[in-house]
Amino acid sequence: MSLETSEEKDLDEKIISCPVCGRDAVRRERSVETWLGVIKIISITCQHCGYRHVDEILVEPREYGPEEIIIHVRSQKDFRKYLFKSRSAFIELPQFGIEIFPGPDARDEITTVEGVIERFIFRLETLCRDTEDPLRCQEIVDKLKKKIDEEDPDLLIIIRDPTRFSRIIDIGSL
Ligand SMILES: [Zn+2]
Repeated sequence: MSLETSEEKDLDEKIISCPVCGRDAVRRERSVETWLGVIKIISITCQHCGYRHVDEILVEPREYGPEEIIIHVRSQKDFRKYLFKSRSAFIELPQFGIEIFPGPDARDEITTVEGVIERFIFRLETLCRDTEDPLRCQEIVDKLKKKIDEEDPDLLIIIRDPTRFSRIIDIGSL
């Protein structure tokens, strides 16, 4: 999903050393006004090795969400609800007693409730190997995977975001 750009400001360009090859790379930073708020777009491009990295960061939301977003998924329709999830969001599944911290590669993203759960399953699966009880961890992964196809998933999700940037969004009203 692309964010409509209505206004562009503060284009900033500088030469930095490429994080991959160490030669000169261009770092561009600009802010754009979107329906979500002000987004900072940072890109790094290296002509020498072809390294390219783009990050979009919400820096000033147009609207704040609650500190805790509680979603009770009772139908497949609930899985298709959209939300903006910031890089600072913690995801908790209280029925399973698990909470996942935002990883170092967490990004600001527009996703669905299903997308949040899929990402949660993916991260949990990689963490299972290092837990005390990998079998029990894998059991939870399997249960969650089943929930995604259930008619009445009865799944509680709590999204905790100290920045309050995360919020449920109504795509239909845009
Ligand atoms: Zn390079």
